This record gives sequence, C-alpha cells and structure tokens, in this order.
Amino acid sequence: MPEPNTPLSERPWEDVDHMVGVDEALARVLASVAPLAPTETSILDADGLVLAEDVIADVDIPPFRNSAMDGYAVRYSETAGASIERPINLTLVGSLAAGSSDQLVVEPQTAVRVMTGAVMPEGADAVVRFEETDETGYGPTRNEREPRTMIGIHRPAKLMDNVRPAGEDVRCGSMVLPAGTLIRPPEIGLLAALNRSTVRVHRRPKVAILSTGDEIVDLGPPLRLGQIRNSNSYTLAAMAKRYGAEPVIFGIARDTISELQHKLSEAQAADLIVTSGGVSLGDYDMVKDVLRAEGTIDIWQVRMKPGKPLAFGQVGGTPLLGLPGNPVAAAVSFEQFARPAIKRMLGRIDLHAPTIEATLTERIDNRGHRRHYVRAIVRRAADGTFQVSVAGDQGAGVLTSLARANGLLVLPEQLEAAEPGMHFPVQMIDWYTTAKA
Ligand code: AMP
Ligand code: MG
Repeated sequence: MPEPNTPLSERPWEDVDHMVGVDEALARVLASVAPLAPTETSILDADGLVLAEDVIADVDIPPFRNSAMDGYAVRYSETAGASIERPINLTLVGSLAAGSSDQLVVEPQTAVRVMTGAVMPEGADAVVRFEETDETGYGPTRNEREPRTMIGIHRPAKLMDNVRPAGEDVRCGSMVLPAGTLIRPPEIGLLAALNRSTVRVHRRPKVAILSTGDEIVDLGPPLRLGQIRNSNSYTLAAMAKRYGAEPVIFGIARDTISELQHKLSEAQAADLIVTSGGVSLGDYDMVKDVLRAEGTIDIWQVRMKPGKPLAFGQVGGTPLLGLPGNPVAAAVSFEQFARPAIKRMLGRIDLHAPTIEATLTERIDNRGHRRHYVRAIVRRAADGTFQVSVAGDQGAGVLTSLARANGLLVLPEQLEAAEPGMHFPVQMIDWYTTAKA
C-alpha cells in the first residue's frame, strides 16, 4: 500500500483518464446494489418501504351493503313523484345505528331510519337523506316528542342512491397491492382494512456513516486552531434517514491506514458504507488506498462539480461510497449516488430525484467540462413557469447556500456558459416554496 508521500506516478487514481461521467458512475454504483431481502414489518413502520408480496383481498371492503348517509332506507320506486309540496309518506318500522346487527326488512310502503355505515335493511334499495325528508328544518314535525310513526319523503330517490354495495372499494379475491408497490399512508390504510397488522417489505438499508480527517472534531469540545467541526456525519445521516435508510454513525477516523481499516471492518455489516473526506489527492487522503488494499475500487473521480473526488468500491463485499470531505460536495454527491442506491435497495424503481424544467434568470459560468450542480432557488413566476436563480456562493464548503437552496440546477458538462432565458433541469431538494430568498 502506498505511503502518504508516494510519488504521483505510483498513484494510478490520479490519472484523469479514469475520471468517469456522472451517468456512468451512477450506473456502476447501481449495478452493485439490489433490493434487500424481504422482512415482515409492522404497517406503522412501512411508510416509504416497498411491498415484497402480493396483497390479495380475502374479504370484501366494505364487508356488507350499507348506508352512505344518515337518512331513510326506502324502496326507491315508491318515492317516484315525491316533492316538498306533495311528500310521499311511508310508515317507519325501525331505526338502525352503525354497528347494529339487527336485521330489519323494508316491506312495501315502509322505511327504516338508518345512520351512515348501518347495514342496509333487506328490501330497501335507496337511502333518502334527512335533508330530503320532513325530518329536519323542512317539515312541521321536527320538534315532536313522540317517536314518529311516519316519514315524509320530499324527493324521488334513484336506485342505489346513497347505498354502498358490499365490495364497492375492494372485491374479495382481487389483487389490491401487487409486490413492488410503494407503501404510503393510503396503502397502510388498505392493509389495515384487510386486517393486516404486518406486511412483507424489502428491508430498510443500514447505511454506515464514517467521517475521516485528523482535523475533524465531533460536537462538544471547543475547537483548537486547525480543527473543523464534524458536520458531514450529521448531514449525511439526516439524508440517509430522509431517503428511507437507517443511518448508523461510526464517528470519525483519523487519517491513518490502521484506523481506517479498523473502522471500515466494523462498518462492513452495513448495506452501504458512506465515508466523507480522504478521497482527494492530498498526502493524507487514504480512503482509496485502504479500499484498494482491502477490497476493490471501481471509481475514484467523477466529472462533476462540486465533488470531483469520489471513490466507489467494495470492502468485504459491502459497497463503499467515498464522498469528498467538503460539506456541500459530500451532500451533493450523496444526493447523486447514495440516494438512488438506497432507493434500489429499498426495492424502488423510480430512482431519480424529482426534476423540473426552469428558466434561468442570470448568467452562470461552467468551465472545466464537469456537470455542475448549482445550488439554486426555484420560484414560480406569475405566468406559472418556474424560474431559477443562483442561491449564493458556490464554494464546495459553503453549506449556507445549500441551506438556502431548494434545488440543484444541472448544467451539462460541455456547456461553458449558461445564459439568462435558457432552460435547465433542476433537481428539487424540496418543493419550490421552501427556498429562503
Ligand atoms: P478532504 O476531502 O478530506 O480533503 O476534506 C476536504 C475539506 O472538507 C477539508 O477542508 C475538511 O476539513 C472538510 N471536511 C472533511 N470532513 C468533514 C466533516 N466531517 N465535517 C465538516 N467538514 C469536513
Ligand atoms: Mg481529510
């Protein structure tokens, strides 16, 4: 393994020909991950996970024919011609609350008072809402004390008015949620309606997060001259969590081969290791050396800005993404590579960030033939189109401009200058209303 002061010629990763484009790098990262094994999970923990089984209904939803309104269950044909002036009067034969299992029958010229969700009485084929009877407001009898024996219908009902047939929502035997479905709150509701308290999903990936650098200090002690606070572990853990992974923070490795080896061996139990720092060309950038000695290294530089240095490989069979140390370079690279990798491990097929087209409002230089992810602010113009402007200082370590941004404007590699009025894709970090002017 090369020591820190190895001459450049013996450090093959500094050969610029090995620099790969973002798309090629992403393809290689994605080729090394696959949906994780299925596991049984509580439906309450399943939001954002992907189904690993077909969910087939073993019941009808709703399970029985019921009333969709508070009103009167009637035979619809008997209400023909009804009006406020000439109500049709039916004999009341009972009342049904939701939850009642009484089995009432609507014989000719009768009605049953029913509440929303009550079982429809046999013989009835429509429900007339209270508002369309002399029950409330309209009729003369609303304050009566005696239980009423008749109800006046003010409007003709149609067949099945306000009646929910059994299986209206879900038919017994039908495929409700096929394997591969992304679970969101409505899917969780459907699972609950099917009496499923747990469900088979692809496991949430564990993402090990390791910061590197002799100068990096975790939260707590005051900084000495030369020291930098560890922010990357927290940014990256938050991103991992937001994108559906379970982050595991492995602290900070000093810039020595032995400490990196030690920490990486601990981190290998994860599904993905994400390191930050130590992948550039400096004397103490050793993540690549360790990766090369301990495993395989597939990528070490990507044609992007911020974030050219980026290592990707495997240690002990675990994919490792070595992000640059600069806080914005780390976050933007995580967004481009770790986020889609996490999604694939979750079993998702929609791997790309939500992207919109926006009109640029100012000039941006883009020298160096790298794909430039510009921290940007997207706003909706009066005409409904999206307009995008630069969110401030684009230095790779300037986290405040990333905090101010709601999107990453993507400038293509070959474009040397972007002019006002040109259209570009913007990856939305958050929806457009979140940017701080
Ligand atoms: P490196 O890629 O190791 O050369 O680091 C590049 C820059 O990022 C240096 O200025 C580091 O101090 C800074 N940096 C590295 N790791 C972190 C971290 N965990 N939190 C904040 N800044 C960092
Ligand atoms: Mg470093």
